[in-house]
Amino acid sequence: MVYGLISDIHANLEALEAVLGELAGVKAFVCLGDIVGYGPDPGACVDRVRRLPKLTRIAGNHDLAAIGRYDLTWFNPHARAAIEWTAGRLSARQKKFLGAVEPVGEVAGAAIAHGSLVEPMAYIASVEEALLSFEAMTGVLCFVGHTHIAEHYRNRVGTRSCDQTALWDGGEVKVEPELRYLINPGAVGQPRDGNPKASFGVWDTKAGVVTVKRVEYDIGAVQEKMRREGLPEYLVERLARGR
Ligand code: ZN
Repeated sequence: MVYGLISDIHANLEALEAVLGELAGVKAFVCLGDIVGYGPDPGACVDRVRRLPKLTRIAGNHDLAAIGRYDLTWFNPHARAAIEWTAGRLSARQKKFLGAVEPVGEVAGAAIAHGSLVEPMAYIASVEEALLSFEAMTGVLCFVGHTHIAEHYRNRVGTRSCDQTALWDGGEVKVEPELRYLINPGAVGQPRDGNPKASFGVWDTKAGVVTVKRVEYDIGAVQEKMRREGLPEYLVERLARGR
C-alpha cells in the first residue's frame, strides 16, 4: 500500500491542493493533525481532508482548540487570535469531524502521534525527546507532526543510540533492519524549517520506503486572504519565510 502523509495543513487550502496534486493517484492517506488554525480556509480544508480516500487521521492541538477541547492558554497570542477567528468559521459538521479522533493512533503497524507518543501535544525536536517516544514504541515506524519541521530520527533496536537527520529539502528514508524510525513529514501549510514550500510524505509499505517531498504553492494568494480576514501579520509573513 502507498500512503500519502500530510500534517499541519493549518487552513492553507492552496498548499493542501498543491500537495494533493503531487499525490494524485494515491489511494490511502494519513493525516497527522492540525487541519485548521493560523490560515484563512479552515472549513474548506476540513471538507477537502474529509473527502480523501482510506483516511487514517489523528487530531492536533489546533483542531481540538478550535472546538473547545484544548486550553487556549497554551497558545501564544497570534495562535490564539487565529483559533478564535477559526472557531467562528466552522460548521457544526466540520467541528464534529475535527473532534471525532484522538491525537495518537495507528496505521498499518506504524504508530502515529501529533506531538509525541508519550505526551500527545509535546514537541519532538531533539534526540532526547525522540528517545522518550522510541521507548514507548512497539513497532518499527512512528510518524509525527506538530513541529512543522521535516526530519527523521533513527534508533538502533535495543539501544539508546539515536540520530537526527534534516529533510528540509525532502529526502528518502529506507527502512533498514535493526533500526527504528520516527519521521516527521513536515508541514503542508506552515513550514518552519526554513523552506517555505509545502512539505508532505509518501510511504510505500511494501518497499519499506518513506519519501519526503516539497512543492511550491501560491503563498501570495494565501497571504492576501489572511490580510483580508485580519489574521495576525506575523502569521502572514512567516509563510514566505518558512519559519
Ligand atoms: Zn501545527
